[in-house]
Formats: sequence, structure tokens, C-alpha cells
Amino acid sequence: MQNGTCPKCQATTVFMRNNGIDIGEPNGVWVVSTKQRRMSSVNSYVCTTCGYTEFYLTDPQVLAEISQFGRWTRVNPSA
Ligand SMILES: [Zn+2]
Repeated sequence: MQNGTCPKCQATTVFMRNNGIDIGEPNGVWVVSTKQRRMSSVNSYVCTTCGYTEFYLTDPQVLAEISQFGRWTRVNPSA
């Protein structure tokens, strides 16, 4: 998706915007990463052919907390 091609329909009509999808907070989303929630901005990628959308948290501290604080379940890769 970030390379400009939609992984669902293979169109090259992908657009990106930081915090482009507002779900109540203009500066990003609240993430339950530690005991407290933290705000992270989000890069949104949207395919304007099929509507498929991906979100990427941009705050490295929030990403580190998700992997280290045990509040998220790590998904094991399928065999
Ligand atoms: Zn698409």
C-alpha cells in the first residue's frame, strides 16, 4: 500500500494523508499502550478505486510500548 499499489485491487490510485481520517481527535488516535492511553498520529492510506484503507501509527514510543508492556497480544505467524 505504501508503495502506491492497492493490495486488494492492484490499482495505483493510493492516496496518503497524516491524520486524514478523523475519528474524534484531530491529532491522531488514543492507543492503550501502557496503564495510560497515549496519543499517536496516524498515516492513512486510501485506495480511491476500491476504498481499501490502511492505518499506520507514527509515534515510535507508542509502538515500543505496545511491544513491551504486555497489554497487547503478539500474533504468532502462521506455519
Ligand atoms: Zn483498491
